[in-house]
Amino acid sequence: MIQNQTTEFAALTDSWDREHLWHPYTSTIDPLPTYKVASAHGNRLVLADGRELIDGMSSWWCAIHGYNHPELNEAAAAQISHMSHVMFGGLTHEPAVELGKRLLSVAPASMHNIFYADSGSVSVEVALKMAIQAAVSKSGSHKKTNFATIRSGYHGDTWNAMSVCDPVTGMHSAFGEALPVRYFLPQPRSRFDDKWNPVDIAPMRDLFEKHADNIAALILEPIVQGAGGMWFYHPQYLREARRLCDEYGIYLIFDEIATGFWRTGKFFACEHAGVEPDIMTIGKGLTAGYLTSAAVLTTKDVADTISRGEAGMMMHGPTFMGNPLACAIGVASFDMLARQDMGARIAHLHERIKSALQPARELTITADVRTIGTIGVIETRTPVDVGVFQQECVRRGVWIRPFGKNVYIMPPYVTPDEDIDLLCREMIEILASGKWI
Ligand SMILES: *Cc1c(COP(=O)(O)O)cnc(C)c1O
Repeated sequence: MIQNQTTEFAALTDSWDREHLWHPYTSTIDPLPTYKVASAHGNRLVLADGRELIDGMSSWWCAIHGYNHPELNEAAAAQISHMSHVMFGGLTHEPAVELGKRLLSVAPASMHNIFYADSGSVSVEVALKMAIQAAVSKSGSHKKTNFATIRSGYHGDTWNAMSVCDPVTGMHSAFGEALPVRYFLPQPRSRFDDKWNPVDIAPMRDLFEKHADNIAALILEPIVQGAGGMWFYHPQYLREARRLCDEYGIYLIFDEIATGFWRTGKFFACEHAGVEPDIMTIGKGLTAGYLTSAAVLTTKDVADTISRGEAGMMMHGPTFMGNPLACAIGVASFDMLARQDMGARIAHLHERIKSALQPARELTITADVRTIGTIGVIETRTPVDVGVFQQECVRRGVWIRPFGKNVYIMPPYVTPDEDIDLLCREMIEILASGKWI
C-alpha cells in the first residue's frame, strides 16, 4: 500500500488525471501514482512543486542527450518555421533525405532501403510484414508466414509485435486465441561477458529443421533483451543464429529500437557480434526523445524481392511517415553524436555504473547485478512494488521505474559522474531499506 501519497505529494497529484487519463499499464480502479512534471533540462526532471529529480530512465531509453537541449530545440524551431508535416506519398523533403543518409552511414553495410514508421511498435509491424512479403515472394509459398523468436523478448504493444513478446510476462494470457501463435525458443543463458555455451543454440536448429517451411523470419533484440527482462546474452548466439537463418532460408530481423544509438556501447548492439540482419528496426533514441518516429532498414535484396512479389510494392504507408519535424530533430541528434567520441563516453559511463553498483552484490535481496553500456540492472529475488519504490525515489530526488524483479537505470548520456553515483546509491539504499514491497 502507498501511504500518505496524497498529503506528501499533494502538489504533484492531479485528481482529473487520476480519474480520466489512462497511463501505461494502469488500472482505473487502483491507478499507480503519477507525479506532475513542469519542465525538464539536462538530466533533470522538474516537478510541479519545484523539486528536481535526477533522471535514470531517459524517458524509456529515448532522451539520449537529456532534455530541453538548445541544439535540438533550435533544429525543431527551424524546421517548424518551414513545415512540421507534409505527406510522404508523392512528396519528399530534405530532413527525410538527410536523416536517411545518416542512418545508412552507421547501419550495417548491407542495409540499403529505409521505411520510416511512426513508432517502434509500428516499425516492428512493418518489419514483420516485409519479412512475409519477401519470404512469400522468394519461396512462392503462402505457408512461409510465421515467426520465431526467443523467450523474454519485448517488441512492442501492437498486435503482431505483441505476439512475439514473451508469452508469459507479455500479454498472451490476456488476449488468448486472438493472438497468432509463434515459435518460441528458450532464452540464451550464456551471459554477454562470460563463456559461450553451445547448448544455447541447439533448439534453434531443431526448430528450423522441423518448421522452416512455415517461418518467414526470426526476430531478436540483439544482445540486450529490454522490457522483457533486462537480460544481456552472448554475441555468439547472434553469429550462430545468422548461420542457421542462412542455412534454412529464414530472414533475420534485429529489433534495435532500445539498443540503438550507443546505449550498449556500440552504435548498434549487433556490432558486438559483427553480424548483419536482413531487416532492422530503429526507434526510441532516433529523435532523442523529442517526437515519436521510427525506421525499418533492409537490404536491397529484401526490398527488391518484395517489389517483385504479388503486390509489387511494400504494403504500408502511415499518415505521419517521414515526419519532417521528427527527421530534422533526428538529423541534429545524429550530428551531436558524430561530434563526440561516443565509444569513449559510453565506456566511461559504463565503468562508473559498474563500480557504483558493486555494493548491490552484498544485498540479500539481490539475485544478480549486470551492466552493459549505460545500462545497470539489479535483479531482485522477489518482485518490486513499483508504486512504493517510486514514492521512495521521488522522496530521495531520483527517477527510476523498476518492473518485476528488475531495478535498473539507463540515464541520458549527459549525466555527470556524481549523478550516476547518486542514482546507483539511492537504488541500493532503497533496496537495502526494504521500502519497496
Ligand atoms: C520500446 C520498444 C518497442 C516499441 O516501441 P514503441 O515506440 O513503444 O512502440 C519495440 N521493441 C523494443 C525492443 C522496444 O524496446
